Amino acid sequence: MSIATVNPATGETLKTYEAMGEEEIERRLQLAQATFRTYRTTSFAERARLMNEAAGLLDEDQQEIARVMTTEMGKPVTQSRAEAAKCAKAMRWYAGHAEELLADEEPAAADVKDSGASRVVVRYRPLGPVLAVMPWNFPLWQVIRFAAPALMAGNVGLLKHASNVPQTALYLEDLFHRAGFAEGCFQTLLIGSGAVDDILRDERVRAATLTGSEPAGRAVASTAGEMVKKTVLELGGSDPFVVMPSADLDRAAEVAVTARVQNTGQSCIAAKRFIVHTDVYDAFTERFVAGMRALRVGDPMQEDTQVGPLASERGRADLEELVDDARRSGAKVLCGGERPDWPGWYYPPTVLADVTREMRIHREEAFGPVAALYRATDLDEAVLIANDSPFGLSSNVWTRDEDEADRFVRDLEAGGVYINGMTASHPAFPFGGVKRSGYGRELSGHGIREFCNITTVWHG
Ligand code: NAP
Repeated sequence: MSIATVNPATGETLKTYEAMGEEEIERRLQLAQATFRTYRTTSFAERARLMNEAAGLLDEDQQEIARVMTTEMGKPVTQSRAEAAKCAKAMRWYAGHAEELLADEEPAAADVKDSGASRVVVRYRPLGPVLAVMPWNFPLWQVIRFAAPALMAGNVGLLKHASNVPQTALYLEDLFHRAGFAEGCFQTLLIGSGAVDDILRDERVRAATLTGSEPAGRAVASTAGEMVKKTVLELGGSDPFVVMPSADLDRAAEVAVTARVQNTGQSCIAAKRFIVHTDVYDAFTERFVAGMRALRVGDPMQEDTQVGPLASERGRADLEELVDDARRSGAKVLCGGERPDWPGWYYPPTVLADVTREMRIHREEAFGPVAALYRATDLDEAVLIANDSPFGLSSNVWTRDEDEADRFVRDLEAGGVYINGMTASHPAFPFGGVKRSGYGRELSGHGIREFCNITTVWHG
């Protein structure tokens, strides 16, 4: 895959980049290592000052960087602006909380005494240069949710961004430099995925985080495993959205539409499988399909566009194959299901009913605005369908019955359970999955501690 900006709304190649060669990569690895030696000793106050400065610059750049993101990967520009705003918020959150999240801990006095120590302190120290392999779907947010905690913890970052968002990748490096971070604190490596393995094997790189597909996660994790390096993996998802009879159906259907089509459906935490109790199946489906039909699909640069093109031609072809497979196996297409006859990689909001476990869409991630509907006769069957997936990222449950909600929290195999709402990340809450959605957590105190050397300091 070449490193290039190709506008998904037109298919036009706007800018191509040469991948960095070995010499340049070596220079950047050296710089990362050298910078880490001094940056690790900076105070939280100094790091927070720089991080807040970067957040301020990002706010100033919001309009411009939003247009770059939309040009590179096609998300509606209003959503690009919201993404930039969310990044600035997360940067400020970590600037304000890192010191407290990484404060020294003292074990219980009785245990300290039991060990024969006069004092024991657990200290969170940085690890070193961390490689971040990132996807295009939230081209700023995925990076910031790594970079803000990593830099606040005293690590330095090396970004290998997706090949279709090079301008956003270069903007991020520039943002941190302009804010005053030393040049080696955050560097973008313009490289293809084939160059990742050697970098990961380099001793100067101490850990890696990857957000992306399962094959990419497997490749990075196996090399990291061989090299005994810590990894965090945020992979795909096929989140269930369960609707029970006590739910507010109008609200559930309205949120279901947003939860499915946010970012033109290309979100790991988008609700993808809608599991509806038979008593409210028809009433919910009618509302949901009406909402999906009413969406405005079109030029992502327009302020009123709700669904833009998919990010790549390949992405649209993959989605079409999932829909065609389901259709051939007996799924009913309630709306959408045919690509429009205009340039760009558009695909309409689509709802498939009568989805069965034999269909590919049941087991694979539909990365676009396509919803799969299931009917469940009771709570147990809803849980069974929800858990019958290789993924376990997040989940959504609509019920006004508290006991029922508790049962879902107990039984759903996912890193999140959102009750009467849709999954959305927040800097203060842990984010991540189980099963083949990955491991480790981002955001919150859990996220910032993933790339720390948790050190026991024992005084005799
Ligand atoms: P992708 O193809 O896996 O790409 C992600 C990143 O990995 C890109 O930088 C890519 O580089 C790189 N990469 C691909 N193959 C690699 C390999 N063998 N070794 C090393 N690096 C490799 O995924 P995508 O299509 O960009 O993103 C969509 C996927 O990301 C979906 O599955 C989505 O669910 C997942 N995602 C997960 C989360 C989460 O938090 N769990 C969030 C967002 C997205 P190139 O671009 O150069 O190929």
